[in-house]
Amino acid sequence: MAKSRLRGSETPLMRQWREIKSQHRDSLVFFRVGDFYEMFCDDAEEGSRLLGLTLTTRNNGAAGRVPLAGIPAKALDEYLARLVKLGRRVAICEQIEEASSGKKIVRRKVVETVTPGTVLSKRLLEAKRNNYVAALAAADASPAGDASSSRDASSSRDGSSSRDALPVGVAAIDVSTGEMSVLASTLGELDEVLARFEPREVLVSESGRSLPPSGFAATVRPDWLFAPQTARDELVRRYRVQSLDGFGFESGDGLLVQAAGALVAYVEEIRPGMSKNLWTPRVLRRGSTMTLDSMTRRNLELVEPLRPGEGDASLLSVLDATKTPMGARLLRSQLLAPLVDAGAIRRRLAGVGELVDQPAVRADLRDALGRIRDVERLATRIGAGRGSPRDVLALGLSARQLPRLAQAGEQLESDALRGLLDGLDALTGVEALVTNAISEDAPATMTEGGVIRSGFNPEVDELRAARDGAQEFIAGLQTRERENTGIASLRVGFNKLFGYYLEVTRPNLHRVPQYFIRKQTLTGAERFFTPELKEWEEKVFGAEDRIAQLEQSLFEGVRKELARAVPRMQETARRVAELDVTAALAEVAEAQGYVRPEVTTEFAFDVTACRHPVVETMMPREDFIPNDLRLDQDGRVAILTGPNMAGKSTVLRQTGLVQIMAQMGSFVPADRARLAVCDRVFTRVGASDSLARGQSTFMVEMNETASIIHGATERSLVLLDEIGRGTSTYDGVSIAWAVTEHLHERVGAKTVFATHYHELAQLGDLLPCVKNLNVAVRESGDEIVFLRRLEEGGADRSYGIQVARLAGFPTGLIARARELLAELEGARSAGGVGLGRGGGAPKSSGHDQYSLFGAEQVSAEHISAEHLSAEHVSAEHPMAEHVSAEHPVAEHPVVERLRSMDLDRMTPLEALSALHSLREMTK
Ligand code: ADP
Ligand code: MG
Repeated sequence: MAKSRLRGSETPLMRQWREIKSQHRDSLVFFRVGDFYEMFCDDAEEGSRLLGLTLTTRNNGAAGRVPLAGIPAKALDEYLARLVKLGRRVAICEQIEEASSGKKIVRRKVVETVTPGTVLSKRLLEAKRNNYVAALAAADASPAGDASSSRDASSSRDGSSSRDALPVGVAAIDVSTGEMSVLASTLGELDEVLARFEPREVLVSESGRSLPPSGFAATVRPDWLFAPQTARDELVRRYRVQSLDGFGFESGDGLLVQAAGALVAYVEEIRPGMSKNLWTPRVLRRGSTMTLDSMTRRNLELVEPLRPGEGDASLLSVLDATKTPMGARLLRSQLLAPLVDAGAIRRRLAGVGELVDQPAVRADLRDALGRIRDVERLATRIGAGRGSPRDVLALGLSARQLPRLAQAGEQLESDALRGLLDGLDALTGVEALVTNAISEDAPATMTEGGVIRSGFNPEVDELRAARDGAQEFIAGLQTRERENTGIASLRVGFNKLFGYYLEVTRPNLHRVPQYFIRKQTLTGAERFFTPELKEWEEKVFGAEDRIAQLEQSLFEGVRKELARAVPRMQETARRVAELDVTAALAEVAEAQGYVRPEVTTEFAFDVTACRHPVVETMMPREDFIPNDLRLDQDGRVAILTGPNMAGKSTVLRQTGLVQIMAQMGSFVPADRARLAVCDRVFTRVGASDSLARGQSTFMVEMNETASIIHGATERSLVLLDEIGRGTSTYDGVSIAWAVTEHLHERVGAKTVFATHYHELAQLGDLLPCVKNLNVAVRESGDEIVFLRRLEEGGADRSYGIQVARLAGFPTGLIARARELLAELEGARSAGGVGLGRGGGAPKSSGHDQYSLFGAEQVSAEHISAEHLSAEHVSAEHPMAEHVSAEHPVAEHPVVERLRSMDLDRMTPLEALSALHSLREMTK
């Protein structure tokens, strides 16, 4: 109460601010005060923190002082861009009247709310990616269970599984391009579904606050906006339709309608009048594209590198040879949503293939494409009544390229390309209107004038002629008045404030005639006007005022006329984007030596001389060693062994990349490729290879692996890289073993499992459809040479010591480690007992068989962490007895210990005692 009494004595400005702020609680309010936008109170504190502004205070009358932070008005865009990137909303509050000399406070109003998902300004958008705002609707979103914890632990099936199955309706709009998609998801799959749109902002209802996965900027709206009837009415009203059936909504799509309705209402509120430019919602059905979860997207570095700052090494950066921004955006979204229909994939590939085969046509197409600007976003801006003269001009210039495009593509035959080129709307009327109406060198803003082309409007032409005539007359005055006055240095000038004048230098002032009237005094000269000059000046100014008015209204007329063609422009932009992507993929295919994959419906993954599309671009071409990789029914699980640095991860990732490239319709980096369509590609990377995310990395790894076990089908491609590495050796091997068995027996997915635990190679002998591959190394003396070549069979050793040597271990230490290793190997008796689990009969090869876990046939599932932890491995331990002499344990405790030593910080004495204890470990 005390507070509100104080407010009574606040300054009028602060009262006004408080009033406005109360209507924009979830936005930072940028409050215009003169040349600054100011933030007060909590906004000031948050703003100064986010933007690194100095936090000061402002006088607030009897109410004391309030926190204040401000930014110069001319730097608005820059600060907005930063806040929008951070996911914040900003309400821009302008002064809507001139400050008067009286005491009255100027009126202010919020003229625009800028939110991350609804920005339109070119400076706040990234040209090469879409900018989506999404909305989520769930039947009962109230967090009945403990929502936040179950989201993270999708692995714990008990309790959370029912919540994971909760249906969620998802709608997404890119306000800047007018695209709108609607699709069904479940809570468990939400991360994958959203990953495809990468929304900047996610709209949820009050009771659905807990729905969005972490990391998304959420905008909370009242529940009633998501109510079924409200949402339906909203759509019916905005699109002026009787029923929603025409959009493809079906009877079970209630949640989709709710999400779509709430979203359209929101966009309409932020951007009034925009919904007429929105494309009709497209209902996306399950099964037309592949969902890629965010782990796979990140680990395969599809659109950005795993570790920031490593250049721009992503699949997208290699493939993106597009010429237009809409092409670049489409490529990115195709990469994030590869197709799963073999027919559709083949159709795209045929289009790319045709342009690979016709380089001249491709060059023509790409030349025309290179002159086409961002028609999609230009159209939206123009439709929103925001397009600048330059925008309109850019639209016209782009439209001019369209006939060239159609002409260049005349000879093409593939269905994909004909589908785009036949009936391509060349926007003839648009082009003609812009060309006739807008001057070729139109300035960026209306205020500068000269926007309307001469010849477009007779009145403008007359006025310009009158103005030019008057200006010429004035210019002529200089000669005449020099003659009249005899002042040779007299000159006619002009400035914004004083208009036209006659300037006479001080020494000549005595010669100035009577009819000169003083206007302005400078240090060395005086400026005058004459009645005649005044008269002509008024003619110039009058004409200019009139021209400015006319230009403004003519320009708005043109923009209105163009706005009517927005749907046509968007359709053309969509086709141009697809042509651009097709031509770009063909360009890259040729430049990088890719091959057209054969897409089959059989089980195959059969790729000859396969390369990693990104790694190969980072080294001289001939240095990258291609490898063959084959997975079929009888060998659907490949265990890929080899020492650290051998190239396992590279092989693994290129397998996934080739699959995804093929399904998005791209050629692939190989000599020959025959691929089945996959429903999903899963990629998991063991803990120490993945980025720290604030959770126990091992827990993250296990959660992720669990979600594969639940999500993969026989048509999936599963790529596991060093799973189990995040824990002790035996723990890790056991988990990896069990996961592989499960995938092999229950799932039947194509699987590549890269691991430096060469023990896992036993699986190849035990399970019928598992095969062993290894990335070969050659020993040459003490050195190992990485051959980067895939070979059949498992790696037989870990070469840990050689790798340590490469890492710069001192020679003496390496020698001692070798000695120890030899001793260890010698101390063990060879065992020949296989691990008796896994269903299949052991292969008869007879070698490589030993028991990891002892003769009592312990199944991997029953081995506890304690039982297997490395510390328990000693010579008298039952497990150690059965380790074959030829096949020492990959990470022997001694080697592990050696590895972990920080030699740089050891004193000689410490080193000696470390050696001593190493020897003790071997006893
Ligand atoms: P691993 O997973 O076995 O430890 P990586 O796959 O990470 O090994 O490969 C290590 C490095 O070897 C890579 O960074 C890459 O530079 C190089 N490399 C991998 N495969 C090849 C190859 N086929 N040809 C050339 N260099 C390769
Ligand atoms: Mg690796």
